[in-house]
Amino acid sequence: MTEVIDGNAVAADIRDGLTDAIERLADAGARPGLATVLMSDDPASETYVSMKQRDCEEVGIRSFHVEVDTDAPAGELYDTVSDLNADDEVSGILVQHPVAAHVDYSEVVRRIDPGKDVDGFHPENVGRLVRGDPRFRPCTPHGVQKLLEHAGVETEGADAVVVGRSNIVGKPLANLLARKADDGNATVTLCHSRTRDLAAKTRQADIVVAAAGVPELVDGSMLSEGVTVIDVGYNQVDGETLGDVEYESAKEKASAITPVPGGVGPMTRAMLLYNTVKAASQRAGVDVDLP
Ligand code: NAD
Repeated sequence: MTEVIDGNAVAADIRDGLTDAIERLADAGARPGLATVLMSDDPASETYVSMKQRDCEEVGIRSFHVEVDTDAPAGELYDTVSDLNADDEVSGILVQHPVAAHVDYSEVVRRIDPGKDVDGFHPENVGRLVRGDPRFRPCTPHGVQKLLEHAGVETEGADAVVVGRSNIVGKPLANLLARKADDGNATVTLCHSRTRDLAAKTRQADIVVAAAGVPELVDGSMLSEGVTVIDVGYNQVDGETLGDVEYESAKEKASAITPVPGGVGPMTRAMLLYNTVKAASQRAGVDVDLP
């Protein structure tokens, strides 16, 4: 029997745990707040931002929102970030990617207070993660780790193959899985578009995480029996949402697998809330148990 890992259920557990933490913070006079910043007319970005605000409201996190005109100079976005850095009611800042084409997104991220960088993309936080001492884990890789943990998948000593080397998913996840820690200690192979024989790598893996943005790239013929498959991919093809894994054939081989949708996606959203609560707790100097 293949276990289908229910990301909605795990995310709901995490939100419940966060609600408790938020109440304890409130008792100590600290209320988490997330600021979202949008410099884009892209309807998808607008939807993502409003989903994040709704998620915040549901667990009792305050949300703030700033829109910067897409024609504005980069300095206006920098000033917005500076204001939010200085605002004590704001625990976390998220600048929705992409921003207007004339603005360098990396430069914007560098200007976020690393203690409020709930995406975990600031170079200081990236450096800490690579050193094995993460402050904020980027939300999607962290969500993948939580799914593995909730499914009872042992990472220690496991051969893990991560397909995709992006800065937001593949690279941080590879580092986290290899980290000397209870939820790490895996032997990690990081595959990418220039990997010579992807199937040879994935076939040797105990855990395969697909994050390539290529619909159904990984199928059952590329997997060994009993593998755990985490599908990060989220691709729209002819009005259908497809993962980076060909679900039916992969499920025949896997002992556990995530569906798309309903796997990693809800976890990414939950872990943003997690990072916001963590940021508030650190700012207030109040220790709370995080789920
Ligand atoms: P990206 O485009 O930045 O990176 C893709 C990576 O995959 C690259 O490193 C590339 O080298 C590698 N790659 C591309 N083709 C490949 C191939 N044929 N074989 C091996 N490697 C290949 O993508 P990303 O931002 O990391 O996102 C990856 C996927 O995950 C996308 O489908 C995206 O929509 C999805 N995603 C989902 C969530 C979520 O919450 N569910 C969050 C982030 C990204």
